Amino acid sequence: MLAYFLSQQSFLGNSIIIDGKIIKPLPHIPGAETSGVVEEVGLHVTSLKRGDRVIVYPKVFDGTCDMCLNQCEMLCRNAGREDVGVITNGGFAQYMAVPEKNAFKIPDEMQWELAASLPVTTLTPYHALKEAALKINEFLVIFGASGNTGMMATQFGKKMGAKVIAVSKDNWIKDFGANYIISEYDRVAEKVNELTQGKMADVVLNSLGVQTWENSFASVGLNGRWVTFGGLTGADVKLNIQSLYSKQVKLIGSTGGTRKEITELIDMSKELKARVWKKFTLDEAYLCFQPSSYTSKSP
Ligand SMILES: [Zn+2]
Repeated sequence: MLAYFLSQQSFLGNSIIIDGKIIKPLPHIPGAETSGVVEEVGLHVTSLKRGDRVIVYPKVFDGTCDMCLNQCEMLCRNAGREDVGVITNGGFAQYMAVPEKNAFKIPDEMQWELAASLPVTTLTPYHALKEAALKINEFLVIFGASGNTGMMATQFGKKMGAKVIAVSKDNWIKDFGANYIISEYDRVAEKVNELTQGKMADVVLNSLGVQTWENSFASVGLNGRWVTFGGLTGADVKLNIQSLYSKQVKLIGSTGGTRKEITELIDMSKELKARVWKKFTLDEAYLCFQPSSYTSKSP
């Protein structure tokens, strides 16, 4: 796996850089979304015991800076907003060690597939929709709705009482709570206009980046919110600020989520589902990083 990373990323002393992020230590064990069973606890650990099933909150944080004290551990000033599995070794291993404050107990009946999806795939859109203050009966448009974060956002949109418009070519997203599906990617704003009788969306969630920027921003209505936690196809976009202030649109950036929100997700986990596309053993984990793993359509 290491050889694969090094072949395409820059090498800097005892670390490598991927997408502008320093990865360490080397050799490196990746894996930011982790669930597992506690094997052993340290001397002063009180909240966990051997045999407990847990998930790992993936942010490195100190718990003492103003951001941490304000329940924004993902913005910790002293940890640089970094992840377990990025600046530490991660979960693609038989064993990993994490601080007690990063480990959260999960119910016995929770499926491992969902458990492993909670720390990033589920937490990220949950926090983003809370940041966007989505309200009951509002129109929510989700770009990439059948992707991993998208399918979770769809479920939260439904739970929050919104009317969910999924931008996707996959019909199964209706089973996750989408009220409408828009499958013509180049006509999204036009379709949103039809579905909302000209009001346009109250909240647009788009983490796909520059390719969908124009269509997504054009889909936001008066007093609407455009929210993102990623820029998959590129992050540099062009914005006419008049179109922003004249409609009183808010652009909202969101990253990860808080530990408090992890506990909320565990509480509501019985009502959530994850769609697993493919399973890999630990020995096959390196295959996940190969582009063909993403493009193949096998179930
Ligand atoms: Zn902090």
